[in-house]
Amino acid sequence: MLHRRQLKLLRAERRPEVFKGALRGEKNVSGPEYFRRTAVTRLAVEADDRERLLSMVREWKRGCQIAVNVAWEVCHTRNEVQQLAYEKLRERTRLGSQHAVLATHRAAEAIKGALEREGDGTKPEFTSPTVVYDSRTLTLFDDRSISLTTTGDRVRCRLVFPDHGYQSQYLDDDRWEPAKSTLHYRDGEFHLHLGFRRPRPDVELPTEDATVLGVSLGIENLAVTSTARFFSGAELTHRHAEFTDLREDLRETNTRSARRTLRQADERMGNFTRNTLHEIAGEIISEAETHGCSVIAFGELEGVREMLERATPFHGRTFERLFEFVAYRSAERDITVVQVNPEYTSQRCTSCGFTHPQNRDVEANQFECLKCGNEANDDYNAAKNIGFRCIRRGPLSSRGVGAKYCALGSGRVTPDGEFIPNEDLEAVQKP
Ligand SMILES: [Zn+2]
Repeated sequence: MLHRRQLKLLRAERRPEVFKGALRGEKNVSGPEYFRRTAVTRLAVEADDRERLLSMVREWKRGCQIAVNVAWEVCHTRNEVQQLAYEKLRERTRLGSQHAVLATHRAAEAIKGALEREGDGTKPEFTSPTVVYDSRTLTLFDDRSISLTTTGDRVRCRLVFPDHGYQSQYLDDDRWEPAKSTLHYRDGEFHLHLGFRRPRPDVELPTEDATVLGVSLGIENLAVTSTARFFSGAELTHRHAEFTDLREDLRETNTRSARRTLRQADERMGNFTRNTLHEIAGEIISEAETHGCSVIAFGELEGVREMLERATPFHGRTFERLFEFVAYRSAERDITVVQVNPEYTSQRCTSCGFTHPQNRDVEANQFECLKCGNEANDDYNAAKNIGFRCIRRGPLSSRGVGAKYCALGSGRVTPDGEFIPNEDLEAVQKP
């Protein structure tokens, strides 16, 4: 809890260089422009069309590889790779103009991925039988069929999925528009990972007397709220590690039955992840409702992932999905979900404001302030700081979010660091 006296101390001792990052904050409120979903369906493909699609898969792989070969050690942004490789793809492959563009983008992603994997600077090889489609190369029809661009004529085929499958909720709802999708060929069958997107409603800034729930994301604890609710990430991380090992083994075996086992394991993993995240998202929202919060604040996901040394791409995706689930379900409840600059939120002591990297014992998931000795769970400390960042004139305030209180387990904190216990709040809030 922050006392007025301690805050004065904190203000006097703020070293500008330490807080420069924390206070820099034009773009503190953000969220994805779109909600995105994927519906996986099988395609019912006629014999002639099969050959067309297979030829498309081959040309796509070749195109991506050519683009990588040209751009490797030269450039890695989409624009640069496109500039450099587009003409060559048009000359040397049978890809149409849009697919040539998409292949250069895919190549750029692969190069970027290779550069990001430290110690593994090997040039990407395109071996997997997939093709990327977008709204210009894929058309979705009302009769649940789809037409796909190939190297020759377009191919039209039926989508095959269970009658009451989750896929229909996106296909039957006009608010979801088709987006970037991927064609996969495996075990002699074509599948489509059909992407959908839906514009995200504008982030509405909270009202003046809003209360905010801070949420910190991590690995041991997938999410922790400023009200001290802990959601463990251990089971998810454990299962994903097991799944990754299994996948390695099965890929080496590479028999038909190994591929089937892998597919089943993949599906189980997907279901488990989805259910876990939905459950946690629901709990976070009900926590916000219980504490009368109209704002839920997360750290900016990109920044969060970079700050966590042990975060894998899996964690990155997990954070994004959790955020998306919370944002999606909050929209119907008049709760605004925002992302704030997470810088220093894990290093700052919520009790005295002292900010130092060594305040944390990352391994032990423990926070201990070098200055005042305040001890707390690392993620809980961060969650409170994320909440504080949303309070007007608060200890870590930033422009853009003007909430009045940050919710804690037993009460709220005001911008001045004053603590109002829940009992008193009832009296204040309800005249
Ligand atoms: Zn302290």
